[in-house]
Amino acid sequence: MKAVLDHIGVAVRDIDAALAFYRDALGLEVEAPEEVLSQRVRARFVPVGQSAIELLEATAPDSAIAKYIEKRGPGIHHITLRVDDIRAALAQLTQRGVRLVDEEPRPGAEGALVAFIHPSAAHGVLVELKEPARPRPDLSPKRLSWGNLRLISVNDGLFRLDGGAMFGVVPRPLWEKKTAPDDRNRIQLGMRPLIVEGAWGRMIVDCGAGDKWDAKLTDIYAFDRTRHLDHSLADAGVPAASIDFALATHLHFDHFGGATRRDPSTALGTGGATLVPRFTNARYLIRSAEWDDAMHPHERNRASYLQDDFVPLKDAGVVDFYEDDGVVKPGVRVERTGGHTGQHQIVYIESAGKTAVFTADLIPTTAHIQDAWIMGYDLFPMQTLAVKKRLIREAIDREHLIFFEHDPFVAAGYIREKDGRRHVEQVL
Ligand SMILES: [Zn+2]
Ligand SMILES: [Zn+2]
Repeated sequence: MKAVLDHIGVAVRDIDAALAFYRDALGLEVEAPEEVLSQRVRARFVPVGQSAIELLEATAPDSAIAKYIEKRGPGIHHITLRVDDIRAALAQLTQRGVRLVDEEPRPGAEGALVAFIHPSAAHGVLVELKEPARPRPDLSPKRLSWGNLRLISVNDGLFRLDGGAMFGVVPRPLWEKKTAPDDRNRIQLGMRPLIVEGAWGRMIVDCGAGDKWDAKLTDIYAFDRTRHLDHSLADAGVPAASIDFALATHLHFDHFGGATRRDPSTALGTGGATLVPRFTNARYLIRSAEWDDAMHPHERNRASYLQDDFVPLKDAGVVDFYEDDGVVKPGVRVERTGGHTGQHQIVYIESAGKTAVFTADLIPTTAHIQDAWIMGYDLFPMQTLAVKKRLIREAIDREHLIFFEHDPFVAAGYIREKDGRRHVEQVL
């Protein structure tokens, strides 16, 4: 079990008198008062870094806090540990014979689930476990007709990357308000390939991370494949064999890892399965200069370019290389942005006067719509900045629909600006 200290509960006789110490003498900031009627307590939270001190004053003589003070005097009443999965934590404790107050989690403040461990098991300390409320991403396919084209946003499950790396020079107190990190400082991300259908056929733009992961990397990146691209394509009624083209924005594993898979029929007796193209009838459209970079990685990008994701495609003779910006299929146009990688490109989907932009790692999530919120992974961040400034200005002024490939909650939306402040109006 992994846990972080959420807060320490302190039983006090008089909250205002306690504030004279915690707020006035120590100079700590204090949150607005709260009253928990069911517990018959008044509470004030005093944040200290990633944790907090919770001052608790009884509002009735039969309150647990009143009884505690009567018996033991004011002081530390409980500690609360924040866990990712409270049911798994309780199961682990039960298995080890730990005495619990709550066998089952119960609802706590702000939608959290909580459960108490008996003080006799915790050497005299009342320990509360807490699983904070977490919105569940909606991973169902999203359809949109776009002029003469049809778009389907699909997904390849979830994963996590270091929050600091995702926001570059932006300090954590700013980005953690948009997306709370887990106990390993990682934030949750989606992988959302886009299917474009036209009279010319069916294309998938990027294809997620795929399933070639060993246990160590699955743990590091927290791949959650409960729902992945196979499910998503099935839900969308799109058989993998019906895909005619697979277009790469760039060849990083979280964008094109899903382009190949192990062929299970070759696994027996050969010491390992052969890697084969994932979409059996597709041509794979790859920018030649991106291919060259991926084939010659350096120390800074080696972890992102995994040869197994793309070399088997060339071996199978299914890659169509192209050199420059331009229209790859009617209504689908690629434009090199650089910045993230030397050859990173975005995809414009243009039909009947409507423009959508699949921005890949240029604007990976809705939290990245500020110009300077740029990933630490980017090899050429000043190039990212220049392109972002132009592209977001255009997107706001001309109402371009923006696709956010890594956002776990928003597949696409319009960037709006009011009084200099930006937000995203969700469409998909
Ligand atoms: Zn990338
Ligand atoms: Zn990415």
